[in-house]
Amino acid sequence: MAVTQAIPITRHPFANGSYKQMLIDGKWVDAASGKRFETRNPATGELLATVAEGDKEDIDRAVAAARRAFEGPWSKVKPFERQNLLLKLADLVEKNFDELSQLDTLDMGAPVSRTRAYHLRAVGMLRYYAGQTTAIHGETIENSLPGEIFSYTLKEPVGVVGAIIPWNGPLTATIWKIGPAIATGCTVVLKPAEEAPLTSLRIAELAMEAGVPAGVINVVPGYGETAGAALSSHHDVDKVAFTGSHVTGQAIIRASAGNLKRVSLELGGKSPDIVFADADLDAAVPGAAMAVFANSGQICSAGTRLFVEQSIYDEFVGRVAEFGRKLQVGNGLDPNTQIGPLVSEQQLERVTGYLDIGQKEGAKALAGGGRVTEGALAKGFFVQPTVFANVQDNMRIAQEEIFGPVISAIAFKDMDELIKRANATTFGLGSGLWTRDVSKAHKVAKSLRAGSVWVNCYQAMDPAVPFGGYKMSGYGRESGKQHVEEYLNVKAVWIKTG
Ligand code: ADP
Repeated sequence: MAVTQAIPITRHPFANGSYKQMLIDGKWVDAASGKRFETRNPATGELLATVAEGDKEDIDRAVAAARRAFEGPWSKVKPFERQNLLLKLADLVEKNFDELSQLDTLDMGAPVSRTRAYHLRAVGMLRYYAGQTTAIHGETIENSLPGEIFSYTLKEPVGVVGAIIPWNGPLTATIWKIGPAIATGCTVVLKPAEEAPLTSLRIAELAMEAGVPAGVINVVPGYGETAGAALSSHHDVDKVAFTGSHVTGQAIIRASAGNLKRVSLELGGKSPDIVFADADLDAAVPGAAMAVFANSGQICSAGTRLFVEQSIYDEFVGRVAEFGRKLQVGNGLDPNTQIGPLVSEQQLERVTGYLDIGQKEGAKALAGGGRVTEGALAKGFFVQPTVFANVQDNMRIAQEEIFGPVISAIAFKDMDELIKRANATTFGLGSGLWTRDVSKAHKVAKSLRAGSVWVNCYQAMDPAVPFGGYKMSGYGRESGKQHVEEYLNVKAVWIKTG
């Protein structure tokens, strides 16, 4: 494994050690309690900023502001104007592209090579939602009632949206929530993850610069069990859009029961990635490796259960291990870095805990298997890209979401058996398969119980293509025209004309 050395932080305007307030009703304010928390660079441990720590009172203030905005002038803003706001915000994100990529890298560790690619997509997402703004429409529906009575539907914004997001892709997650809200005419109270709140605050600042009116987007950083819980249980919130772990997703459903608010959930996964012996192995080796190692495995749809046909198992898994050993692990600000740190000490403990579990269960680490302890990287939360061979379906490393750079490679022989085994998980977010056989590709793609199936590729994403889960990976879709529908109510109108 090649290891790049940490490079010094450039003094980023948003991560220079200063204090950041929260955004409520278009104003930057302190927490009502006056409390603050720290956010640090996971590659070096260096303090990036102290941030106002929101709690129930701040959520109450933000929800009240979002309600006022929703019922006030924002409700009169026409689709063209909302479209213009999204296009202006897209331009601002594009203009501040380098700064925003670095900010994600500093706050959560992903390499700039990755955050740059994601940020390009984020600009596209905003422009896609801008396009959707003018495509919202109801229908006229012929009915069979006697007499003359005319019926049609209206699509109306659901209202105040509570958005709760994780730390593994702050810019994408923020835009995935505020984009459809602006497109449909909703208002938002967004709670970023406590591990990486800075990008959401910066995007909110850019949204104000773009002209989004006060109260339409409010950002309240804080902890899950306080600010997050207050938002998901709030009686004046009409919908919660959540991305995170399935355990928190369950808590959010319980909290939402009080006013039966709408909920959409994008949760975890334990996605199968299947390599058939007839695949183009030169493409499948890096493809299957990066399906897990990208973002240090901190992706909900990572292809962590690598099913490999028995006849090529040893050769293929050996090649994936070799690929993993050659990856450049280091500070994400270094342009050569391919694998950054994990986001936090807690995440490091969780992942290294699973590395121990895997070895105790009898799996064999062909690559990696531990924390990086050499040089400057010892100060950060770095884990070696790890490939476990000899994994059995019932091992914990084959069942539970690890959220780290850990591949569990499992052998298979029979195709029907394979489908059952691939589907034998409580999750259903992503899935992949590698084959040159077109009919096999269609058959397996149809049989997998997951929201996305990638054939001869992995993690392809586009703003126009829906993404979301089956089973315990959640419900609702982000991206695509389905996403906008999640933020709309349907009203039926009947008019007696006779
Ligand atoms: P992860 O394990 O990826 O950090 P979490 O589900 O714990 O996933 O966190 C995702 C988001 O959910 C974060 O913004 C976190 O603060 C928030 N969160 C955590 N617990 C709760 C809760 N009980 N209610 C609402 N939000 C929560």
